[in-house]
Amino acid sequence: MKKVVIIGGGTAGTMMANALAKGMGEKLKNGDVSVTMISDKKEHLYQPGLLYIPFGLKTEEEIIRPVKEVVSPLIDIVFDEATQFSTEQKQVKTKSGKTFSYDYLIIATGSRPAVEEVPGLEEAGHIFYTLDGAKKLQKAMEEFEGGNVVMAVGLPHKCPVAPLEFTMMFDDWAREKGIREKTNITYCYPLQKPYGTESVAKLATKEYTERNINIETFFMIDHVDAEKKEVVALDDTRVPFDLLVMIPPHKGADVTVKSSLTDNDEGWLPTDRQYLNHVDHDNIFVIGDATNLPISKAGSTAHFEVEILAENLISMIDGGQANKRYNGKVFCFIETGLHKATYIAFNYEQPPKPVTPSKAVHWAKLSYNNAHWINLKGIL
Ligand SMILES: Cc1cc2nc3c(=O)[nH]c(=O)nc-3n(C[C@H](O)[C@H](O)[C@H](O)COP(=O)(O)OP(=O)(O)OC[C@H]3O[C@@H](n4cnc5c(N)ncnc54)[C@H](O)[C@@H]3O)c2cc1C
Repeated sequence: MKKVVIIGGGTAGTMMANALAKGMGEKLKNGDVSVTMISDKKEHLYQPGLLYIPFGLKTEEEIIRPVKEVVSPLIDIVFDEATQFSTEQKQVKTKSGKTFSYDYLIIATGSRPAVEEVPGLEEAGHIFYTLDGAKKLQKAMEEFEGGNVVMAVGLPHKCPVAPLEFTMMFDDWAREKGIREKTNITYCYPLQKPYGTESVAKLATKEYTERNINIETFFMIDHVDAEKKEVVALDDTRVPFDLLVMIPPHKGADVTVKSSLTDNDEGWLPTDRQYLNHVDHDNIFVIGDATNLPISKAGSTAHFEVEILAENLISMIDGGQANKRYNGKVFCFIETGLHKATYIAFNYEQPPKPVTPSKAVHWAKLSYNNAHWINLKGIL
């Protein structure tokens, strides 16, 4: 029996498990192949939904489902935390002391905001990238009656466009609440423009200028001075805030940070850009945010990676070859306020070109959000 072990039950792990179940149903039923998914969470959180929580536009119930409900019954689900990869023995060890052998290992452990790397942040700032953080921010926004609002962004982080979206949505929200004239919004970004790629930076600059949002460039976050209520950059530039929202730089999951499979302090795993195997191992694959690939850490990235890897892996299990190659394809919607959106599609070679923001694209994004649960099952 060939054994496939997937670590992580988020977007990439779940889509991969379901794609394998769909493509190898008979083999899984006959016991020729087993697929085990090790997830340290019993609930699947639809993270793009977190963007809407601070504005009261989505509820917790709408963005959470039990992992067991979203994964095919043909997959063995183990709720445990992977703590160690033993590549020579082809085994994964878990927190509860169990050992899982594999022929093929798929690492889909995601990324997380490294809040602990920014002193003062937890005390004085808000992060909508976690459910608790998004709910806390919703409460703070309910009580907010005007003042200095700062969105400070560190790199790298998942969903590169989410801070832009939040800022433009916040501007609309403040206008609709009637407090925009008493509100000063500043966007702090570590580069010389408000986004890494030229076309999106241009779109953001245009929108921010029209909306009277300040842009503080070359702002490398150092710490938050909770007493003075200032966010402080490495060069000691200080931006005062009454409400601070921050996307701190991200790291990989603890298990990858500590693993010998990584070559960097953040735990990103060196991944072949076309075949998605770990560069030193033909039987270990990395998908989703956990890779070191030069492409957005996004659910969409995971989606397109899974399409490639599932087909290749099924072929390899059948004794064939990996024939499909990932070209870095990503598709992302971008909310440009509460009522309009644009989208970008790009890959390793072709940079994004945002379309003119419209209500129609905004409604398409909302429909896509609602379709996440069927998307996870590979139906879209
Ligand atoms: C606010 C916000 C908005 C976003 N908007 C978009 C969007 O509009 N479009 C888009 O494409 N993407 C968006 N994203 C990004 C998207 O959610 C992530 O890129 C995507 O979830 C990555 O999938 P993943 O499986 O790699 O990681 P995750 O979905 O985070 O899953 C990783 C899973 O692995 C688990 N895990 C970690 N370590 C272990 C371990 N040792 N053992 C077992 N399990 C472990 C974690 O608990 C987690 O459940 C957004 C993210 C946020 C936060």
